[in-house]
Amino acid sequence: MATAGVDYLHVDVMDGVFVPNLAFGPGVVAGLRNIGVPIIAHLMVDCPENHVASFVDAGAHCVTFHLETTAHPHRLLAEIRRLGAQAGLALNPGTPLALATELLSELDLLLIMTVNPGFGGQSFIRSALPKIKAAAEQLAAVNDAALLEVDGGISPATAGSVWQAGASVLAAGSSIFAEADPAAALASLRTAATADTMLSG
Ligand code: ZN
Repeated sequence: MATAGVDYLHVDVMDGVFVPNLAFGPGVVAGLRNIGVPIIAHLMVDCPENHVASFVDAGAHCVTFHLETTAHPHRLLAEIRRLGAQAGLALNPGTPLALATELLSELDLLLIMTVNPGFGGQSFIRSALPKIKAAAEQLAAVNDAALLEVDGGISPATAGSVWQAGASVLAAGSSIFAEADPAAALASLRTAATADTMLSG
């Protein structure tokens, strides 16, 4: 499978409960583990405690769960690291960054959603830009090794402002896959963002 030059493969996992759609279990990640780029599993599932180990076993480089789905995010971040993967935490557009303050030093990746999760092809929520900027500043202060990823509505029209706000990784789906030439679409996204760019599955 050609990777079109991406830096990571971002695989969206949906359970039909936390989000309406169903998509991709650990078997899909296992099938992609030798593709040659690190896989970030984005779990949009309730009870992520029950699933992180199977995604680490499947070969995910980073396992990201949603803050909204667990009462014990601090413990789950530690558990993912103990299992040997990088630990990611995702925030929905309606979830304040302040709810993650005590977790910022415990994670390897913070994912700011700029659409409500569950469907591809949605429009970027511009009011999330100050949140991205604040997240970048807070991570720089307490955990400057962590990645700041932004997911949702990323296109050449939005990538520049997201990058300027401080994102280090952009997850792109439709703006690459819906194009006739994905590699060219990725190149134009990189030009727009001057960013690492991810491929969303
Ligand atoms: Zn995603």
